[in-house]
Amino acid sequence: MPFLSSQPTVRRMHTELGYSVTCHASMYTGVRPDRHGLWFIWQRRPQTSPFRWMRPFRFLDRIDNLPMHVLATKISRRFTRTSSWFGIPYPVHVRWRDIPDLDVAERKLWPEPHYLETAPTIFDLMQAGGIRVEIVGMNRKPPRGLSAWRTWQPSANPARFTFLFAGDVDHESHALGQDSPQVTSLVKQVDELIEDRYVRMAASGARPRLVVWSDHGHHDVRPLNPLAFFKDRGFELRRYPHVIDTNFIRFWIDDVEERARCVNALDELGIGHVLTADELTQYRVDMRDDRYGNVIFYVDLPWALSHTIWGFGRRLASAHGYLPSYPKSDAVFVSSEPAREGPLDLVDVAPSLATLLDLPVPADLDGSSVFTSEAATG
Ligand SMILES: [Zn+2]
Repeated sequence: MPFLSSQPTVRRMHTELGYSVTCHASMYTGVRPDRHGLWFIWQRRPQTSPFRWMRPFRFLDRIDNLPMHVLATKISRRFTRTSSWFGIPYPVHVRWRDIPDLDVAERKLWPEPHYLETAPTIFDLMQAGGIRVEIVGMNRKPPRGLSAWRTWQPSANPARFTFLFAGDVDHESHALGQDSPQVTSLVKQVDELIEDRYVRMAASGARPRLVVWSDHGHHDVRPLNPLAFFKDRGFELRRYPHVIDTNFIRFWIDDVEERARCVNALDELGIGHVLTADELTQYRVDMRDDRYGNVIFYVDLPWALSHTIWGFGRRLASAHGYLPSYPKSDAVFVSSEPAREGPLDLVDVAPSLATLLDLPVPADLDGSSVFTSEAATG
């Protein structure tokens, strides 16, 4: 990425323990997960579950099969409004009886007004400040991502904030691996497109300032089938309400003694460990309730679970969601503007953008601007 790597600021950025939903919320609010509340897409929230109409049928175990999960989701989608990235995904590997308790943690797309009830996003601040925003690539239908960038040209009178979004690199990395020739080529295209559009914007008389960020890195992984793995070891996964993500299995176990026994059994499996109360606090993911589970089993590298609530993970070369202390978990932060010294964190993104846009930075954020206020003028 010759253009990006020639910028005055090229830095690593510390990420969150979680997936992109956690990262986006931290980046765009400037507060950590225990304050913005987004950790996983699937949460247990029976009172708002789009599947709550299924409750009378929940103990019909004989209809617990994939076509019924798909049908139930299709029906639920009809009367649930969502504009979020994932919408209401099909719950694939999950107990039928648990589905009526599950809800998605986000119903909107993060640039939309009032994305979160817990904290305003940088997009809310821009709207309040009357800043015109142009968003490129964040479409649900094609062209999206890099394809949308290709067809986009800056106008003679560009918006104050142009947001180019692409999930292509993440998507291809999952399937083919971060170091694959295809992903290397994609990354090169990202660099070329940014350079070209930046140069064109500058040529039109605007003075563009560039900030580029990602939300996390990627790790090469080895797929592991959790259904077979747990069965072989005599752990009855289906005995408890649970949700399987790529490298987490989250349980809801009411009985305190049974919970303790499960924690011990999980810790002895040799593929990860149950997050302790101290870790939840340290990673700023303690939600003070059990919406994301009361036993959070973290599966460590090199393992990535193939059979999850999301599906089958047939193409799973690379994944994220591992401990933020691993260097490969780091995100990146690049800018045409000089940044302060010291470690950078996802929560620094929102206040940094606010500073560049001359918007008041909310007090009491967890992050702080990486730019000085002199950088704002222009
Ligand atoms: Zn991803």
